[in-house]
Amino acid sequence: MKTAPTAAPPRRASRGRSGAEARIVQSIGEAIADRRLPPGTKLAEESLAQVFGVSRERVRKVLLLLAQRRVVTLIPNRGAFVAKPTAREAREVFEARRVIERAIMETLDRLARPLPPGVLARLNEHRAREEAAEAAGDRKALIRLSGQFHLLLAEFAGNATLAGILGDLIDRSGLAIAAFERRSSHSCSAEDHRRLIDALADPGPDRNRAGEAVRLMMEHLDTIERQLDLEAKPEPLIDLKSVFAGADGE
Ligand SMILES: [Zn+2]
Repeated sequence: MKTAPTAAPPRRASRGRSGAEARIVQSIGEAIADRRLPPGTKLAEESLAQVFGVSRERVRKVLLLLAQRRVVTLIPNRGAFVAKPTAREAREVFEARRVIERAIMETLDRLARPLPPGVLARLNEHRAREEAAEAAGDRKALIRLSGQFHLLLAEFAGNATLAGILGDLIDRSGLAIAAFERRSSHSCSAEDHRRLIDALADPGPDRNRAGEAVRLMMEHLDTIERQLDLEAKPEPLIDLKSVFAGADGE
């Protein structure tokens, strides 16, 4: 049971919220993750209440939840904003990811030798979706799939606590990348993920190669962090209504 793959893509549990709130948290979270809402965007209660057809009070609850996850910043008398990490916070987030993801890869290396066929099939299926998104130039899908890949590994390692922490760190590293990326690049390359899967699938007979997947993951995170440019950027103006146009219809 502990490392069984699941068919659904990894999503955080709704943590006991009402359905409407969970739906809004997810919509805003996804818009932040795929950069439709860049760091620093003002999240006006009134506009969000109109967009989602709920009370301002409910919007406030949602913003509070997102603030607890540190993807939204609440400023007294000014309102809510998509969090805009400083260069220092960006480095801290990647440092934390290295610690967590090293532990996850070590656990996988230890538990999953050889990697169960079901897990490998699920990873390869995910890899195919990443490669298709990359080939199609679908940046939004690629960002979403990239994060899910890392969460899948955490899930297969069977540690829900590490997976939960990693989920928040992935959201925050997405913000760091959006704030500091040098040009229009995405966070992960499908090629790096392919090499990670290969290392897990076939680590070779030599126990000394056990660290290969860990090494590749550290290299992968270093590469992403190195793509960041710590120069300040002007804040773009975002229209909340156009971001969520059609998002609430179904
Ligand atoms: Zn990645």
